[in-house]
Amino acid sequence: MRRWANNAAEPELPSWGAALSRPARPGVARLRWALLAVLLLMLGLWAGWAAQPAQGSQAVRAMVVFDDATYGTPAADRALAAVGASVINQVSAARMAVVELPSAAAVHRLAARAGVRKVEFDVPVRATEVATGKGKPSGGTTQPAQVLPWGINEVGASTVWGSGNRGAGVNVAVFDTGIDASHPDLQANIAGGYLAIHDGKYRRKTSYSDDNGHGTHVAGIVAAVDNSIGVVGVAPEARLWSVKVLDSNGFGWTSDIVDALYWAIGTRSDAVRDNDIQIINMSLGADSGSTVEATALADASTAGILLAAAAGNDGSAVDYPAAYPEVVAVAALDSADAVPSWSSRGPQVELAAPGVSIFSTYKGGGYATLSGTSMASPHVAGAAALVWGAQPSLDAAGVRALLDGHAQDLGVSGRDELTGYGLVRPDWALGL
Ligand code: CA
Ligand code: CA
Repeated sequence: MRRWANNAAEPELPSWGAALSRPARPGVARLRWALLAVLLLMLGLWAGWAAQPAQGSQAVRAMVVFDDATYGTPAADRALAAVGASVINQVSAARMAVVELPSAAAVHRLAARAGVRKVEFDVPVRATEVATGKGKPSGGTTQPAQVLPWGINEVGASTVWGSGNRGAGVNVAVFDTGIDASHPDLQANIAGGYLAIHDGKYRRKTSYSDDNGHGTHVAGIVAAVDNSIGVVGVAPEARLWSVKVLDSNGFGWTSDIVDALYWAIGTRSDAVRDNDIQIINMSLGADSGSTVEATALADASTAGILLAAAAGNDGSAVDYPAAYPEVVAVAALDSADAVPSWSSRGPQVELAAPGVSIFSTYKGGGYATLSGTSMASPHVAGAAALVWGAQPSLDAAGVRALLDGHAQDLGVSGRDELTGYGLVRPDWALGL
């Protein structure tokens, strides 16, 4: 499992054994001890300071939901100012302000104010890719000849293509680290995107392009182009939307996912029809959820969007958002249809898909082999795009029911906690 970036930054104390064991004259030794004590004190002070969040020792990020009559009014501003909140983002559809508070105690004081419906801690999320098995990215300036990654055949995608359906025109939003929009094996399918990262006072991100590689890999599994180079996605004519919710380290915040969910919902209520997001893939997760996130997912589901997410890579309980009932939780399989030990499990697992040693597109016009439930979920998103491409009159629940009802049963007969209904089979879902 990936380490948290802020843990990796902890300073390590150097070893002083060599200096202390060297024989020396008494006076010099005392001076050395004094210098050493001062040095250790300075090092200790520095380590203590370095371990604190940049914004101050007790600062916390929180989501504040106001009632309809209060959101966006001076009363809301006063409630935030009274507790020293600094506003990072506003999501009007959720009546929500994302703020930084000076202390955890301020959460409770803010929650008690008139017009404030609830205040929840913002939850950090991470990309669900396992670090092991990560190949060195290849390609870039020289594009390799096209190959069919093993997972594509495993889900029966080429059978569906044989029927003349490649998911053309189906809009799939990839909530991730962004997508390399100029990648020669993706470019033709990139329809647009949305930058959902909000950093507070330092707006470090300016575009939804991929500065990590993970999102480009996931996007290629959904819809890499069937041409002469690179790879082919499950639905090679689907339209990809790059929704950047994770930073260059693969980390992000639940509040930004909530912001992105309302962006997607908004595409379905504006005047434009060909931008309507139909499927959202979330190859990311956290060990806990929030009621604000649950509400946003329920709103997206009600708006007609099919939601798929990685089950998680810690081999234990299913991550959030995959664990929510509105979301299809996807477990990983290797090429023998076995579940790797790290694939998270539980009653919420709904489908399984290829997630071990998956070759796909990478940032910088490259390609890489990665493993994780991050790679499994986009196989399901692509499968949903194929089903929708063949049967455009279905709603999201109808597509989900077809995929669940025609999965390839694995392991224990019937739905189980490792593979759900089994391996996703869009060909079987379409009666092919
Ligand atoms: Ca290709
Ligand atoms: Ca629209």
